[in-house]
Amino acid sequence: MERGGKSPAYSKSTLFQLRDDLCAMMANHEYGVLGINARDVTAATLRARGEVHALVAALRSLGGPWSRMRVVATATQIGVREGRPVRGRYVVTADALREGRRHEDAVCRVTFGADVHATDPTKGKGIGRSPFRTKPYDIPLRVLISADADNLLMAGRRISGDFIAHSSHRVTGNGVRLGEVAGALAALAALRGVAPRDVPWNEAGARLGAAG
Ligand SMILES: Cc1cc2nc3c(=O)[nH]c(=O)nc-3n(C[C@H](O)[C@H](O)[C@H](O)COP(=O)(O)OP(=O)(O)OC[C@H]3O[C@@H](n4cnc5c(N)ncnc54)[C@H](O)[C@@H]3O)c2cc1C
Repeated sequence: MERGGKSPAYSKSTLFQLRDDLCAMMANHEYGVLGINARDVTAATLRARGEVHALVAALRSLGGPWSRMRVVATATQIGVREGRPVRGRYVVTADALREGRRHEDAVCRVTFGADVHATDPTKGKGIGRSPFRTKPYDIPLRVLISADADNLLMAGRRISGDFIAHSSHRVTGNGVRLGEVAGALAALAALRGVAPRDVPWNEAGARLGAAG
């Protein structure tokens, strides 16, 4: 891309070959975008699509195997890393990763380390170095339950965690497990006719399958 005259916004750009003549391309980052503001997200989406076309044109200009390259499709939505956090009855913090914290009401054990992508392009456009050595840690059930709104559960990337913790627990394997747990907890609460926070852990843990 750089030889073609266009430096990508994400320095760890990757082409994943899906078929002989079809690749998925990951090459864009949008910086300083407020993910809860529709205008910001729309502007970022337009810029990102523009960059994809410019990068493909840069590759095409190299000729040879690149000469017939063209964009087939771009993502329907831009991937917003973090938006408006919801405070849970427990908040996962960076200390959990540093200490490898364990909890009695654990529903997921996270093994993925801290993975903070660049937030300031003047200081780098890739993935930052982990701020410390991380250890596997637990996500307790309380993290999925809103502290302030009855009957609101969080799952996937939007469980209650700080910036560093989110960079670790947001990945898909954990997201799948946490979605399953939130759904099962909602069902248990509905069957008992109580709020999710009032489902006793000995019942929830037995039905949800504790982590570890
Ligand atoms: C470019 C990129 C690369 C990544 N690489 C990796 C990787 O290599 N490995 C990895 O494990 N993770 C990776 N991640 C992170 C991971 O993909 C996400 O953190 C994860 O998919 C989040 O899953 P989720 O279910 O919590 O949220 P999402 O997948 O965002 O699902 C939320 C869903 O809710 C829908 N929605 C939003 N608002 C509403 C509404 N009001 N009503 C109804 N539906 C709504 C959305 O359309 C969406 O379908 C990557 C992310 C990106 C963007």
